[in-house]
Amino acid sequence: MKKLSTAIVYLYVAIGFGQEEYSSQRERMVNTQLRPRGIVHTATLNAMREVPRHEFVPESMKPAAYTDGPLPIGEGQTISQPYIVAYMTQELRLKSSDRVLEIGTGSGYQAAVLGQMVDSVYSIEIVGKLARTAKERLREMGYTNVHIKQGDGYHGWPTKAPFDAIMVTAGADTVPQPLIHQLKEGGRMIIPVGPHYGVRRLILFKKKKNKISTRQLIPVRFVPFTRKKGKQRQN
Ligand code: SAH
Repeated sequence: MKKLSTAIVYLYVAIGFGQEEYSSQRERMVNTQLRPRGIVHTATLNAMREVPRHEFVPESMKPAAYTDGPLPIGEGQTISQPYIVAYMTQELRLKSSDRVLEIGTGSGYQAAVLGQMVDSVYSIEIVGKLARTAKERLREMGYTNVHIKQGDGYHGWPTKAPFDAIMVTAGADTVPQPLIHQLKEGGRMIIPVGPHYGVRRLILFKKKKNKISTRQLIPVRFVPFTRKKGKQRQN
């Protein structure tokens, strides 16, 4: 009996220590990967500090969850580098009252980061298995304002439109026009655009008085935006 209770105490200490470890890894991630590269938006930094990235990667990847790069999440897909997640989030200039559409749920990590900062998030994932896993994970973690569905994000989510902001987290060769239509007046959209198998560039679109302005941002690498389930390609 004594042995058992000692074991339980050790287990609690180990779990507690593990969690503290992860939160200090997040703090280090913020201070070494994000701030020095120009992430200054307070709500973005707070969300990056709070969302437990290690819960969104496969068990074997947990020790690497806070490293400075993308990680595989299964089905040939990846969770983006923390800096890219923070950069895209910051560029959208989000307000706490915003409704946001994400295309490419993947693990659900980016959706959780957004969910931490805005009123509601709608996220679409084309691979059924990833959509189901992310939905279940976010439900268990208590992200009640993040809604996920399986489907081709090219068409956006017409019944929930318009959106204050749209983030596409798969690399497109052309900009899906339905997404532009689903932006509110004053809305912003960020999307990696460029040829498949190459370096793409993040483009920021803004809709003002029904005119669209564009700004080219940094070059990035992303898994491709696909149109048919089962045709995923890696670049
Ligand atoms: N935001 C994710 C990572 C995105 S990886 C995260 O935080 O983990 C890109 C994702 O886009 C992949 O899961 C891929 O299956 C998905 N995807 C590709 N084309 C799509 C499309 N047309 N509609 C919806 N999702 C798509």
